[in-house]
Amino acid sequence: MRYNAWQVLKQGLTGNTGWRPAWRKAEPKPAYDVIIVGGGGHGLATAYYLASKFGLTNVAVLEKGYVGGGSVGRNTTIVRANYGLPGNSEFYSHSLKLWEGLEQELNFNVMHSQRGIINLFHSDGQRDAAARRGNAMRNQGDDAILLSREACRAMLPYLDYDQTRFPIYGGLYHPRGGTARHDAVAWGYARGADRRGVDIVENCEVTGIDIDGGKVTGVRTTRGDIRAARIGIVVAGRSGQLAAMAGLRLPIESHILQAFVTEGLKPVIDHVVTYGMGHFYISQSDKGGLVFGGDLDFYPSYASRGNIPMVEHVMEAGMTLMPMIGRARILRSWGGIMDMSPDGSPIIDRAPIDGLFLNCGWCYGGFKAVPGSGDCFAHLMATGQPHDAAARFRLDRFATGRGLMDEEGTGAQHNLH
Ligand SMILES: Cc1cc2nc3c(=O)[nH]c(=O)nc-3n(C[C@H](O)[C@H](O)[C@H](O)COP(=O)(O)OP(=O)(O)OC[C@H]3O[C@@H](n4cnc5c(N)ncnc54)[C@H](O)[C@@H]3O)c2cc1C
Repeated sequence: MRYNAWQVLKQGLTGNTGWRPAWRKAEPKPAYDVIIVGGGGHGLATAYYLASKFGLTNVAVLEKGYVGGGSVGRNTTIVRANYGLPGNSEFYSHSLKLWEGLEQELNFNVMHSQRGIINLFHSDGQRDAAARRGNAMRNQGDDAILLSREACRAMLPYLDYDQTRFPIYGGLYHPRGGTARHDAVAWGYARGADRRGVDIVENCEVTGIDIDGGKVTGVRTTRGDIRAARIGIVVAGRSGQLAAMAGLRLPIESHILQAFVTEGLKPVIDHVVTYGMGHFYISQSDKGGLVFGGDLDFYPSYASRGNIPMVEHVMEAGMTLMPMIGRARILRSWGGIMDMSPDGSPIIDRAPIDGLFLNCGWCYGGFKAVPGSGDCFAHLMATGQPHDAAARFRLDRFATGRGLMDEEGTGAQHNLH
């Protein structure tokens, strides 16, 4: 069923009884050409592009819970291409271009809203860094505008410009950045993959990976053994655990990131805004809630919920930047598990076992990467060759030290990226 205005009208006039499930509840088959472990954004996008670009439809996505239950449905929905380093720069630029055609391609409203992102800076040194990053973005073909303090004041009048410990010097404006509805992205890719024949198997946890003579032969799951000669591990925060099933130790630590949403308010924040002197980012959802987040919980954990000291830390940053937020009431907070790599950049590569492929290390920027990652990972799994846009996301950079992409310049400490 195609979604369009005519269907909305027809279903509305006939009691909304004609809508069909967006994807089948597939039962696992004994064997597939390709198995994708993980039905998050990256896994579903990979399956979609395997089918749509490479004609590979004998594919299963195995998801231990339900589609959208992982970080793809828990993030603060920011989509941008404002990276400065070669490797990241071309990849996120590629991903943003895919975002811009995504709703038409999937025939699904993911509520992609290019409302612009403004990264604030608070010192001359930060202004220099912002100018350098903006130039790198423009060299890559993306958009970046350096805003003065006065321009920020005109666009973001609700910030504290006068009484604050870290005065706002200006901002780097990325007009094509914005937000999208996070779980709709998972649903849209799931529907698109399903329509092309991919089996999306929910409530199917992978518990083991079978290897014979240095090649993968299949997986063990809570719903039986399934054979495949190509297996992609795309489980974000659980990457270390899955890789361990194949006898691998990945350079990944899992940490919790929390997010918060307030009660619905009248429109007040038109853009995505990030604070330069603390880790704090905020936007307003279409329902009116202020959606915001900050730093990771600093110790590794799989708990999928946050702790109180980080709540306090995020609230402090918010209050410093925009004291008006103190009048809003928090409705909910939640956490998700982040797959943190030592240089803050991802891995899209073959594993040192034939037929096994790795897609992980998205740290806390993996939502914006979903279309690009799916496209590049599908390319790698289908052709055996890296996609040009992701050629630098190699696993061996952590062994050799060559080609590290430390965007934050914080060194090899996972939780600082
Ligand atoms: C609070 C928060 C805010 C964030 N904000 C942003 C943001 O604003 N912008 C941005 O770009 N990124 C953001 N991120 C990061 C982004 O959400 C993640 O990097 C990205 O979603 C991870 O990829 P995924 O969608 O594939 O992961 P997931 O949705 O977590 O998918 C992985 C799936 O694998 C499944 N799985 C795990 N183990 C197994 C197993 N053994 N067998 C089968 N299935 C398994 C899980 O159930 C899960 O559904 C944020 C994350 C959080 C938590």
